[in-house]
Order: sequence, then structure tokens, then C-alpha cells
Amino acid sequence: MGIKENCDIILEKIHAAEKRAGRAEGSVKLMAVSKFHPAEAVVEALEAGVTLFGENRVQEACGKFPDIFASHPEAELHLIGSLQRNKVKQILPLVSCIQSVDRLELIQEIAKQKDKLAESGIAVKEDKLRLLFEVHTGEESKSGFTDKDELIRALEFAASLKDKGIECAGFMTMAPFTDDTALIRSSFRKLSETAAEMRVRFPELPLAELSMGMSHDFEIAVEEGSTLVRVGTAIFGERVYA
Ligand SMILES: *Cc1c(COP(=O)(O)O)cnc(C)c1O
Repeated sequence: MGIKENCDIILEKIHAAEKRAGRAEGSVKLMAVSKFHPAEAVVEALEAGVTLFGENRVQEACGKFPDIFASHPEAELHLIGSLQRNKVKQILPLVSCIQSVDRLELIQEIAKQKDKLAESGIAVKEDKLRLLFEVHTGEESKSGFTDKDELIRALEFAASLKDKGIECAGFMTMAPFTDDTALIRSSFRKLSETAAEMRVRFPELPLAELSMGMSHDFEIAVEEGSTLVRVGTAIFGERVYA
């Protein structure tokens, strides 16, 4: 099946899950995760109406997206994979959001490089940079904040960067890779609960985004309050790791 058909099926499933959960239709955004797929596949998804993309490796994103932006300015890219400090500088001009913020030192580097970029006059895709805080919610996943106090310190620091055009926009998680739907659901529920707690603690921050749900679990994620699902395989097919 083609990319367009896959997107249509996924959108239908998202709408059905929104309905089941008593949520308004259209409250969940669909991100197409294009890692390990060529630019042509991204363009096909754009032609099918998807505008939001996710990549998890800086190198690959930098190789692929400048040309895509040139021909399709409506495309928007988020980084969703773990980010090394020395790669921050490269990725900033391309993304509107970093979804994988998992430590305070990373935010410090992002702030520093964002300042430098503003001074340099290099063209960027978006002036504002949104940050999602990745939270560890499942046994198998290795990434994300595990300690609540560390998460709070990171939010406090990031909140102070508002005038630099850095916005604390919400939270992200990966559920454990398992067929046990109860485990998956409890992982998503943990993220919803953490988000609710942080919204009370930081009422001044626009922490509305909940990025959770992938190809095999996005319907559960929507039922548990996801506002953004990150779908790769179900749109583009299996990834070929060369
Ligand atoms: C690869 C990836 C996805 C998409 O996974 P699929 O199972 O192919 O839908 C989503 N989120 C993150 C962080 C990823 O690395």
C-alpha cells in the first residue's frame, strides 16, 4: 500500500480513538517519522497532506531536509532522538522543536547555540524553538528523565529562557516495546500524570503538548491524552538498516 493510503488509514484510526476517548476530532497531530527513509518518501507524505516530520539522528536530518524545505516550505521538522551536545549547533537551524530534552546540560547548550545563531544571522526554519521534556515511563526504555527533581530543575532553567525564544511546550515519552497493552497504557498514563503535575507547578508555562504513541501503540496513546503521535513504520513501511 502507498504512503497516502497508509496516512488515510492512520488518520481514521486516530479519529476513532479521539471519539472513543470523548476528545474533539483533530485534537491529535500526526507526525511522520522519516528516519531511514529517503527524501522521496518525505515528499510523497507531503503530497498526501502530512506536514510534520520527525528524525532521530542529526546527521541524517541535515542531509535530507534542507532540500525538502527548499521545495516544500510548509514542511516542519522535530528532532525526536537523543541529542549530543556537539550536534546542537547543526540541528538548530532545521527544527521547530526538540522533543528529546533529557538533561539540564543539553538545555544550556541549546540556549548558548540559539544565541549564537541569532547573532550570526544564519537563516533558520523557525524563530521560536519549542522544547519537549522526555520522561522515562517504561522499564525497557533507556532515555528520558527518571528523577522528578531533575525534571523540575530542568523546567525551571528552561522557563528562564523565554526571552531567548525558547518555549517549554510539553512532554514526550516512549512506551516499552511489548505486546502487553496494560504496560503500554500505564506508561502513557504516567506521562499524562507527570504533565498534569508539572502544569500545576509551572502555571506560567504552555506545557500542553503530550508526544506519545508510535506505529504499534498510537491508538492507546490517543485514548490516554496524546496530542501528537510519532508514526514511522505504519506510514513508510519497515526501515532498512543498511
Ligand atoms: C523511530 C521512532 C518512532 C517511530 O517508530 P515506528 O514504530 O516506526 O512508528 C517514534 N518515536 C521515536 C522517538 C522514534 O525513534
